[in-house]
Amino acid sequence: MVDRIQVYGLPEELEFVRDIARRFTETELMPLEKMVQEREISRGLSAEPLIPKEVHEHLDKKARELDLFGLDVPEELGGQGLGFMYKAVVLEEINRSITPYRLPPESPNLSWLIEEATPEQTEKYLLPYSRGDKRSSLALTEPNAGSDAAAIEATATRSEGGWVLNGTKTFISRCDEADFFIVIAVTDKAKRGRGGISAFLVDKGTPGFKIGRYIWTMGYDTPSELIFEDCFVPDSQVLGEIGWAFKPLQKRLGVRRSEIAARCLGHAERLVQLMVDQANNRVTFGKPLAERQAVQWMIADSVMSIHAARLMVMDVAAKMDAGVPDVRNESSIAKVFATEMVSTIVDRALQLHGGIGYTKDSPIEFIYRNSRALRIVEGASEIHRRQIARFRLQG
Ligand SMILES: Cc1cc2nc3c(=O)[nH]c(=O)nc-3n(C[C@H](O)[C@H](O)[C@H](O)COP(=O)(O)OP(=O)(O)OC[C@H]3O[C@@H](n4cnc5c(N)ncnc54)[C@H](O)[C@@H]3O)c2cc1C
Repeated sequence: MVDRIQVYGLPEELEFVRDIARRFTETELMPLEKMVQEREISRGLSAEPLIPKEVHEHLDKKARELDLFGLDVPEELGGQGLGFMYKAVVLEEINRSITPYRLPPESPNLSWLIEEATPEQTEKYLLPYSRGDKRSSLALTEPNAGSDAAAIEATATRSEGGWVLNGTKTFISRCDEADFFIVIAVTDKAKRGRGGISAFLVDKGTPGFKIGRYIWTMGYDTPSELIFEDCFVPDSQVLGEIGWAFKPLQKRLGVRRSEIAARCLGHAERLVQLMVDQANNRVTFGKPLAERQAVQWMIADSVMSIHAARLMVMDVAAKMDAGVPDVRNESSIAKVFATEMVSTIVDRALQLHGGIGYTKDSPIEFIYRNSRALRIVEGASEIHRRQIARFRLQG
């Protein structure tokens, strides 16, 4: 039972969907956690998925039966058309479990495709993507350009009937499962971020495109390098207007940042529940930890910051659903606050559990390692702070 502060005024249907996602998490995802931890240890330096293929298929089937698929996919694309608020609530619930299950389709690339896909791209990519039949990754980061995305060096050069891609991408997530990639490349070196950077849909298996080495990380994510050597893509694979990828890219990143913040709520709720259980059950010097003020304050501070983060997530979700055109500031605020909140809470939770918190008998160390990347990916905290300050300083 999760005893959390509910946000006032949310529709009953949303709480109904939250209950379904909660049951899915408790009956399907949490029982897999031991297996996930053991597979992570035993796989060593291999990119074997932590959820075996057949178990993943079972989870997809269950999630589909429970109507958890396509929550924010518009009805005309075969989805439920419920909007991002529903997705955020469900993301929070499923991320109470450390089982790394992701509900397809991923909202960020979905939002970009909805906005820019041509009728042909809708058939080929958007529709199967919306149904969860195709997966994709974003290929933006390069060895010499991460935070400073306008400094990318990969190029797309005009050729008859299309474009020729050359360059290397790095840290690209989920390459094994992706069917296609949204690849960002420079089409005009003089203009760069002001009309010279474009997006291309590149299928796995396109000649001249190969997936390079795995990059081993401290978490379960094993991103890869991507290599483009004279990779020809026809004009029909350009996503959006040539030169103007940055605007939809910013929007896409805004969706991802809000998603990350929602995921952090789930991690943090789980950690507080673990802290509560430990505090009530562990007796030291003749009293449960729960009776110590130092412990109570750890829990109180965590509950307060979760409540604040949840209000931020709900705010940005409500604005996205209402069609507010620019939620970059709100999504930056929510992302920084929620990711840093998890870092603080996971450290408290580990401390409160003592030695057991440091072991793989508890899910805490898994969250500790895996949540760390969230302060770097999709814009490091410093980059978001810079944006938030600029927004305010420049009015
Ligand atoms: C697990 C994982 C998965 C990823 N998945 C993807 C993916 O699927 N697709 C993709 O394209 N990329 C992906 N990335 C890349 C990620 O988006 C970048 O790592 C991130 O944007 C930061 O870029 P960087 O690592 O090059 O750091 P840098 O840009 O080198 O920055 C390093 C640090 O310097 C500081 N810094 C930088 N600029 C400033 C500034 N102006 N002011 C103050 N401080 C600053 C920040 O603290 C920052 O963390 C992934 C990364 C990881 C770790």
